[in-house]
Amino acid sequence: MAKIIKNEKGFKVISCSMSETTKFCGMGICDSCSKAAFNGYVVCVLNRWYCEKCYQEWNKEATYYPEDVNYELSKFNQFKKVLNLTEADNEKAN
Ligand SMILES: [Zn+2]
Repeated sequence: MAKIIKNEKGFKVISCSMSETTKFCGMGICDSCSKAAFNGYVVCVLNRWYCEKCYQEWNKEATYYPEDVNYELSKFNQFKKVLNLTEADNEKAN
């Protein structure tokens, strides 16, 4: 089930399963390594879905740029809508 996850750098990230990626035209294929994954992470600021390994690698190197926040939030809200996440799910991530 899709879930908003806490990211210590402040990025908006949603974890979801392969089958849920079809809701945003994904096919459970990682946007970084192009391999299939059962579970992965929507990285809103990149508009990409990463497998566990690529997400961890990206997270290590990623830098949070406050100027991207509007773009990130608009993507985050789109993903939340298609994945049926609510404000209550936001709270749980905090
Ligand atoms: Zn990957």
